Amino acid sequence: MEKVIVLEEGADLDALSCAYGVQLLYPDSKLLRPKQLSKKAGEVFRDFKDFFRIIEELPPEFDLILVDTSNYKEYLEKLKGRVRSVIVYDHHPTKLECCEGKVEQVGSATTLVVEELMSRNVDITAESATLLSFGIYEDTGFLSYEGTTSRDARAIAWLLEKGANLRLIRKYLLDTWSKEQIDTLSKHLHSMESLFLNGKRVLIVVLKSEDYQPDVLNILYELREVKSADALFVIVSAGYKTYVFGRSIKGEFDVESVLERLGGGGHSFASAVKLEGVDAERVKSVLTSLLEGKNPPLRVKDVMTSPPFVLHQDTPVSNALLELSQRNFAGAPVVDDSGKLVGIVYKKNLLKVAKHYPYGRVKDFMVVDFHQLSPEDFIWKAEEILSHYGEKLIPVVENSNLVGVITRLDLLYSIREQTAEIKAHEKVIKLPTHVEETAKQVGTIAQELGFRAYLVGGVVRDILLKKEVWDIDFVIEGDAIKVAQRLAEKHGVDYHPFEEFRTAHIKVNGLKLEFATTRRETYPHPGAYPLVEYAGLKEDLLRRDFTINAMAVCVNPDCFGTLIDYFGGLRDLKDKLIRVLHPLSFVEDPVRILRALRFAGRLGFKLSKSTEKLLINAVSAGLIAKAPKGRLMNELRLALREERIFEILELYKKYGVLEHVLVGIRWSPQLEKKLLSLRDVIAWHRIEFPKEKIDYGWVYLLVLLEESEKGMDFLVDISAPAWVRETYEDIKKNKKELTKKLLSAQKNSEIYLLLKNKPLPFLLILMTEEDIKEKVRVYLEKLRSVKVDLEKFKGLSGRQLGKAIEEEKMKLMDAL
Ligand code: ATP
Ligand code: MG
Repeated sequence: MEKVIVLEEGADLDALSCAYGVQLLYPDSKLLRPKQLSKKAGEVFRDFKDFFRIIEELPPEFDLILVDTSNYKEYLEKLKGRVRSVIVYDHHPTKLECCEGKVEQVGSATTLVVEELMSRNVDITAESATLLSFGIYEDTGFLSYEGTTSRDARAIAWLLEKGANLRLIRKYLLDTWSKEQIDTLSKHLHSMESLFLNGKRVLIVVLKSEDYQPDVLNILYELREVKSADALFVIVSAGYKTYVFGRSIKGEFDVESVLERLGGGGHSFASAVKLEGVDAERVKSVLTSLLEGKNPPLRVKDVMTSPPFVLHQDTPVSNALLELSQRNFAGAPVVDDSGKLVGIVYKKNLLKVAKHYPYGRVKDFMVVDFHQLSPEDFIWKAEEILSHYGEKLIPVVENSNLVGVITRLDLLYSIREQTAEIKAHEKVIKLPTHVEETAKQVGTIAQELGFRAYLVGGVVRDILLKKEVWDIDFVIEGDAIKVAQRLAEKHGVDYHPFEEFRTAHIKVNGLKLEFATTRRETYPHPGAYPLVEYAGLKEDLLRRDFTINAMAVCVNPDCFGTLIDYFGGLRDLKDKLIRVLHPLSFVEDPVRILRALRFAGRLGFKLSKSTEKLLINAVSAGLIAKAPKGRLMNELRLALREERIFEILELYKKYGVLEHVLVGIRWSPQLEKKLLSLRDVIAWHRIEFPKEKIDYGWVYLLVLLEESEKGMDFLVDISAPAWVRETYEDIKKNKKELTKKLLSAQKNSEIYLLLKNKPLPFLLILMTEEDIKEKVRVYLEKLRSVKVDLEKFKGLSGRQLGKAIEEEKMKLMDAL
């Protein structure tokens, strides 16, 4: 009768070694090919396959051998009739009632088999000894775990005598991690947070890694900090998805009951959930409040307005407008006689038609193609819809009944509420010396006045990036104007207050200081200038655009230099990522779309996956058009001033944003070629003529607008300086003709005459044309600087002199 060894699913190294030992004990036994092994057992099996006698299928009748398991009853049940007898080798403390084999309490099952080999005096090879020692070492933790016995040590001693290979033992048993894995982990480890809950310690760590590997989790579990905690939650942001893994370490913390709230499953000791459309940082704050036993709004039903205000489909347009205006609603769901949802009507649309169709009905102007939500949906699904389609209102439907509506404002409030839970990461940093002194003075003044002062925003980002900083922004919890005033007095300089905004600026030690009072801003409508109220630092940071711009440094004496980072800005700086603070950010202020690309271009950063998706949605929802023109133009002007304007334009192109700002512009291969060529020309000019400073950004804009019909209107809109507008007109009027003439110009003097009155930007743009580039270059490098010897023209004056000089110059040029 055949003897077949069957391993349990997920069998570990002890089981595998034990199975091998059994093969030595029973030369007629075979191993049924294991379906699934633990990671280490799998590696050993792969490399030592030839040591096993494998069969692929169970024979009709056989003797069953089980190792490292006490589940023989289950097997007997399953294989009823086919199993003639059972042999078991196991070290778990169950009584063996049935069968042959050995079940005793030692450190590993393999020990039992090895003892048998020892007593039978079987001579084994060094390889066999190695393979057997794996199981014993593994299950006893190198003879150190509770439950290890002297019998295990004796078995090991025998195996070493037989030549067990220590190098291989280390290779397969000691976990090794690659440098990358450790780098990835250490980058994120500073975000590990401990929560103390009812005497239990729970750790939360966020892995924001684009190249996350499951192995990294295994390293985490090995950390001493983790081993001594009660539970560990790992949040992994993998692209647009966020995973949460919960693990109970000491077995007393029910992780499933927490993750259940997020729709997760598993066991009380190990649970996981996959979330879509929600950022890791947000998940962390939600998880934290869940763990703290709070009840954060998670589902649509938690934030929706219910019951909803609805309009009947037959309501006349004018009445509907009145109803909406009285309530200050942007829209409402529309229902039929039976109360069934049939559409959504927006005030904006009604206003457009009210004049012409005052007696029209709501149903004629409603939107019938709309999204809906269920009360059980997560709120981030609602955010996704709002940010994706720029919609204002989503009906919530349950069993085909309209039960509520969700608006942008409902969600913004809930986001703010949730972010309010976030705790800051603090870390002391060193300020550059030239800022340090002034910052200390500001801190001391604030302290005297009973205020708190912080460096905030771009300056903090740039200090962390080790860039030079001269524009320094402070926010004051208190009154900024008073602080500025005292500092100005101290230095004997003027200060410039803006009462309305409670801000002031002054210049000190070559630094431009800007003082703002912490404030809360609300946006009356997307893109509008914000209304200002007062609040604390955290709220001030919360209203900012990107995580890297939303950090602060305390300058009061008691906390001088402490970096305050609520949103993971430091990590994003290290990862080179631009990330919005919340999903409705671009909806709230569409100018941020362009800002995101400006910073990405300037710093060589990428958009985080989720931010990229939000940005793409916002662009395709046409949100840029909703931003006030003045602010858009202002932003564009800032971009044009950037050193890396070319990279920024590339990003504008990639995300299709320029089309929304420069109406009428169309990307073509020619235009792209020209921009590339301009980049080279500018690089050349920067090096050759470092003293000729011009704003190259405007030159790029001139190229972009060259073919546009409405270029001049745009230049007026953006308040372009006079030279830009003049050059534009000049280009429009003369460039074609000039190019033609240049092409046929032979002599240097001809080139000189054609180009001598042209402004530099015009010349640089001419240089983007391959076939005349050389001629313009000669003009700039040589012709324009040809000098004549004035001695020659003694006695001449006025116009005569000028003419003679020009003629002489041209003679010299042609002789070059
Ligand atoms: P720069 O180096 O270009 O000045 P900056 O980060 O200082 O970069 P500013 O435009 O001066 O940018 O704005 C100062 C700070 O105000 C930013 O760092 C950011 O925190 C915040 N901020 C500016 N514009 C917005 C916006 N549209 N939405 C939210 N926050 C903004
Ligand atoms: Mg700034």
